[in-house]
Amino acid sequence: MSSVADANIPIVPVLSAGNWHKHSKNSGGDVYNPSTGQVIARVPFCTPDETAAVVSAAVEALPAWSETPAVERARVMFRFRDLVAQHFEELAALVTREHGKTLPESRAEVQRGMEMIEFACSVPTMLMGDTLPNIAASVDAETMRHPVGVCVGITPYNFPFMVPLWMFPVAIACGNTFVLKPSEKVPLSSVRLGELLTEAGLPKGVFNIVHGDRHCVDVLLTHPKVAAISFVGSTAIAKHIYETGTKNGKRVQAAGGAKNHLIIMPDADLDQSVKALSASAYGCAGQRCMAGSVAVAVGSVADPLVEGLCDHAGGFRVGPTDGNESVDMGPLIRREHLDRVAGYLDIAATDGARVALDGRREFDGEGFLLGPSVLDQVEPSMRVAQEEIFGPVLSVIRVKDLESALEVGRDCPYGNGASIFTSSGYAARQFKQHFNAGMIGINVGVPAPMAWFPFTGWNQSFFGDLHIQGTESVHFYTRQKMTLTRWFASAEESHHDPVWKTN
Ligand code: NAD
Repeated sequence: MSSVADANIPIVPVLSAGNWHKHSKNSGGDVYNPSTGQVIARVPFCTPDETAAVVSAAVEALPAWSETPAVERARVMFRFRDLVAQHFEELAALVTREHGKTLPESRAEVQRGMEMIEFACSVPTMLMGDTLPNIAASVDAETMRHPVGVCVGITPYNFPFMVPLWMFPVAIACGNTFVLKPSEKVPLSSVRLGELLTEAGLPKGVFNIVHGDRHCVDVLLTHPKVAAISFVGSTAIAKHIYETGTKNGKRVQAAGGAKNHLIIMPDADLDQSVKALSASAYGCAGQRCMAGSVAVAVGSVADPLVEGLCDHAGGFRVGPTDGNESVDMGPLIRREHLDRVAGYLDIAATDGARVALDGRREFDGEGFLLGPSVLDQVEPSMRVAQEEIFGPVLSVIRVKDLESALEVGRDCPYGNGASIFTSSGYAARQFKQHFNAGMIGINVGVPAPMAWFPFTGWNQSFFGDLHIQGTESVHFYTRQKMTLTRWFASAEESHHDPVWKTN
């Protein structure tokens, strides 16, 4: 825990078996308001014993919850969804406060999260199994979906509200109990979600929250009673979570980082493309796994595109977002992250790229602010084209034709999202069919699927086989049981064997 002595700074509580605990004596971290640079809370890093105690709460709640009728479980989700709707503005303000994204961006996040709860309300229908009577003589076959058990969610900082909701509503509606380990940088939204779930009538222990760093995660990854782990975060950690979790016999879905390409054809509507590219690259200050971070300019579009991007993004109002709606782009999450992102501008220049728009400038106050940047003349082999920067920096690669643009995608280790801007159906189809990424946009800047569709990252952007969201998420949080049934007739019953009658 930070040594700054201030009794007025609240400690973020742990939720275990329906009770809120303050583990204030352990080590921990600071939660900042990135708009002001001020510490607004302290988050404990739970010890292995404290973490195991939270898992035990989920273990104890499992038998009763998994036996609760599916429609009753869904009813809790209906009430939870209404509470989120009632508190919509408060929740958006909280996301802005602990993350720094603009209020409209936070509202969009709360909306997307609420849609995951709406999806979870319909889980009973998706739990229905298949049957085939008489699969063999007098034998009936059926499948049923059972919960997998205690599930764990480990989430990143960039969507404090939405990403936890990618996980636990579906898991809980499917009859599992849940332990959430939110990002230590943004734990406050998760705490509020826990309070609203309690208010919605969720029984104690079905949803629990533990806080911590990698030591806490290590306990979750190896705990014998944990059945499944959903992870969202950077690629190196996603790979570690997948490898360790599966080695310990757990079902794992692990979404990682990204490097998303936006291809602009010469026949694209330039004004629309510039606006869409800017929104994609600089929305949430570039801290989105679906942010467009490499523009691939095809042929003659390059010069007017770079000029348009510099003009448009250069006019962005950048500033503190907390309580302030008159900004286009907010701060980054931490000072160190800002320095890391800004460092990429020097790396690009050293590697031979041109800094066409430089976001580094003086801002009022102590917020972690950095303006939008455009890098031109970037080559696919440069670090800025290969590595996830996760900030408001858009690299422009110039290529001669669509095939060369597809080649850029083929050489990228990630594979989350990619978009094309064109008025040609043929180019759009070629792109859709052949680009090396799991989520495709056609004249759409951020092709992020909504709750009902799977979040289909490829390559180093996803480890596992069943993705987050949509039907795949219901399959992830359930396991099938197949039953074959044959009943023998008693001596008396055998006289009444039913026969198909045609009249
Ligand atoms: P991160 O990987 O640093 O942290 C994610 C979670 O892992 C946090 O809860 C953190 O406490 C935990 N963690 C960190 N180090 C760990 C370790 N060594 N062992 C075990 N656990 C550890 O990610 P972040 O910086 O919070 O979030 C940004 C990243 O998340 C970006 O790479 C972004 O692309 C990615 N992301 C991906 C998606 C997707 O759907 N693919 C969505 C959102 C964010």
